[in-house]
Parts: sequence; C-alpha cells; structure tokens
Amino acid sequence: MGSLESERSVTGYAAKDSSGHLSPYSYTLRTPGPEDVVLRVIYCGICHTDLHQTRNDMGMSNYPMVPGHEVVGVVTEIGKEVEKFKIGEHVGVGCIVGSCKSCKACSGKVEQYCNKRIWTYNDVYPDGKPTQGGFASTMVVDQMFVVHIPENLPLEQAAPLLCAGVTVYSPMKHFGMAEPGKRCGILGLGGVGHVGVKIAKAFGHHVTVISSSNRKREEALGVLGADAYLVSNDAVQMQEAAESLDFILDTVPANHPLEPYLSLLKINGKLIMLGVVPEPLHFVSPLLILGRRSIAGSFIGSMEETQETLNFCADKKVSCQIEVVGMEYLNDAMERLEKNDVRYRFVVDVAASNLDK
Ligand code: NAP
Ligand code: ZN
Ligand code: ZN
Repeated sequence: MGSLESERSVTGYAAKDSSGHLSPYSYTLRTPGPEDVVLRVIYCGICHTDLHQTRNDMGMSNYPMVPGHEVVGVVTEIGKEVEKFKIGEHVGVGCIVGSCKSCKACSGKVEQYCNKRIWTYNDVYPDGKPTQGGFASTMVVDQMFVVHIPENLPLEQAAPLLCAGVTVYSPMKHFGMAEPGKRCGILGLGGVGHVGVKIAKAFGHHVTVISSSNRKREEALGVLGADAYLVSNDAVQMQEAAESLDFILDTVPANHPLEPYLSLLKINGKLIMLGVVPEPLHFVSPLLILGRRSIAGSFIGSMEETQETLNFCADKKVSCQIEVVGMEYLNDAMERLEKNDVRYRFVVDVAASNLDK
C-alpha cells in the first residue's frame, strides 16, 4: 500500500451551534494507522439522531459537528495490517468507530455497549482529535468498525441499514423475533420504523404499524407490507387491539405516555424502546405487573450484527424506501425530517457534491 500522509484536510458540512444549521467546514483527518481504512464517502443517510445531536437535544453536543452515521463509501487506502478490505471495495460505517476491545462488552461481541465506545461524530479519539461523521468527503475508520456492502445491494439502499436497519435487526434477534409467527408492533413509522416493518416481515411476523395519524396508512399496508394499522389517538381502534401483540418496537423520538402501548401487549409482551427521549417517560406499574410485561431498550447492534443485517437484507431483497438528495439540500432535509415529512429516509448523495474540489 502507498504511504499515508499524516494530516490531510477535508471538507464536510458541520453544525456550528445548536441551531443545527449545517454549512461547509474544513478540518484535518486523524492520522491513519496500520489498522485503518480510508474511505471516500458516496452516500450517507440522515437519522433522527443527527437532529438530536446537531440541535443539542441531549445537552452533550460539541461544535463544529459533522453529523452522519449511515455512511457508504469506497476504500481508497488501507493500513498495512488491514486484510479484511481491499482498495476499491464498497464499505459501510455506522454509529460507532471505536471501543476498548477488552471489556466484557467488547469480548462478548456487543461492543456497542462498551463504556469506552467512540461515536462516529461528536466524540474524541484517544489522541484527543474530534470524530467527524459522514457528511464529508472522506473518513478514516478502524477496520473493526467497517463492514462489507454485499454486491447485490444498491449502495444508496445500504445506507439506512447501517443504523436504522441494525437498530431493528439486533433487538429482533435478541428478544426472540428471529423465529417467525410473532405479532409485532412498530410504533412510529419513520426511518427506523419503516425498516422495522420490512425486516419484521422478512422474519415472517404479522406486523402492526402504530402511527400518530392516518396519513401513512395506505403506504404502510399497500407498499411497505404491514398487515394492520392503528392510529394511536383512536381510542376505539386501540381498545380493539388490546393484548394482541408480542412485541412493540418504539421508535418515537419525543415524549409520549407508554400506557396506551403497554395495553396492546399480550401476557409476557415486550415494549422495546429505540427512540431517544431525554425526559422521563410515564407508565403505571400495574400495566407491567398484571401481564408480566416488560420494557426494554436496545442500542444499534454489534459490528457482527451490522454485517448480518446487510447480508440478510441483500438475501431477502429487503429494500428501504428512500429519498435521495444532494448536499445542498441537507438543511431542508433536516427540517423536513423534524416535521415528519419524509417517506421514509433521506439519503444524501455525498459523492455528487465533490466536496474537496
Ligand atoms: P424519524 O424518521 O423522524 O421517525 C420517527 C417517527 O416517530 C415519525 O415518522 C413519526 O411516525 C413518529 N413520531 C411520533 N411523534 C413524533 C414527534 N413528536 N416528532 C417526530 N416524530 C414523531 O426518526 P428515526 O430516524 O426513525 O429515529 C427515531 C428515534 O430513534 C430517534 O429518537 C432516534 O434518535 C432513535 N434512534 C435510536 C437508535 C438506537 O440504537 N436505539 C438508532 C437510531 C435511531 P408516525 O407519523 O407514524 O407517527
Ligand atoms: Zn441513527
Ligand atoms: Zn470495551
């Protein structure tokens, strides 16, 4: 392999403050090491977490911040100890780019739960350099946090799977939804939720979408393949569906009472929280006790599961419903995402904007 220059300047789109407005920003990449892969970004999906982070919803944002953690690119250089990847290969990067590699979580192959995980952006590498995400021309990533894109998966389709996809695939496997025939609810039909419908169907489940309005009904049933559709503020529909579901994946990114959804669960049913809500949520304990129900949480998936998600979706021909946009549309896309106005994931064509030119 060729020599890796120690410092190189690249351009991305960064939020400079909690307005979340993104504008061009130049910075230097960290020096690539022997285990690193250098990739030129081709596509990057927009996740609601990018909104939470750029707008400082969790109160822990650092600026300038280049968001983007559904990154598909092409390998342009590899460190001398990289055997897993070749120059010219298409690869993906998700929400994390580092972990301690020695704790219980890391040795148990659930490195996403390592307390020393390094987030793809809004974090720092051990040398103190800030991490920056995929709305940029180039990234340098430890090979352990890079996955292969299967050849029969279109690159723009792969992007949402790197966060939204694995975020639903991992709890489905962990909580017993890899076996077919369950009744599965998807609460919130956005980027994560719509992939949830697709993957739950591919696992062979009966899928009920629980949405805040009727607006997505026809598409959910007719295009995405859901079996049933409930509007959460329709008390009659919700009552009729009481105690009918084995699982609910809750993807709502804002405060919401949990009682109406706990009531939909059968005995032993599980409400699995995926949406990030930085405020206390409300429920009364009898709803859990009188039904042995549980509330759980799940964070993305391991790197092994990320690769599995891509392979599974390629094999089962699971496709995401996406709207591909240019970098110049990034701020509009973020605003539309906030207004619940996307069917169902924006994917940014990063390569088309020639950021470093
Ligand atoms: P999204 O595309 O905005 O979808 C969220 C959906 O929730 C909306 O489409 C909407 O569906 C529903 N919703 C209900 N109340 C809402 C409100 N007040 N504001 C906005 N939407 C509302 O978001 P996403 O990218 O799927 O992400 C969903 C949540 O999961 C975010 O909090 C994100 O940070 C989190 N997340 C977590 C993980 C993890 O590892 N746990 C990974 C990725 C994302 P209806 O129209 O059907 O009501
Ligand atoms: Zn995400
Ligand atoms: Zn660790």
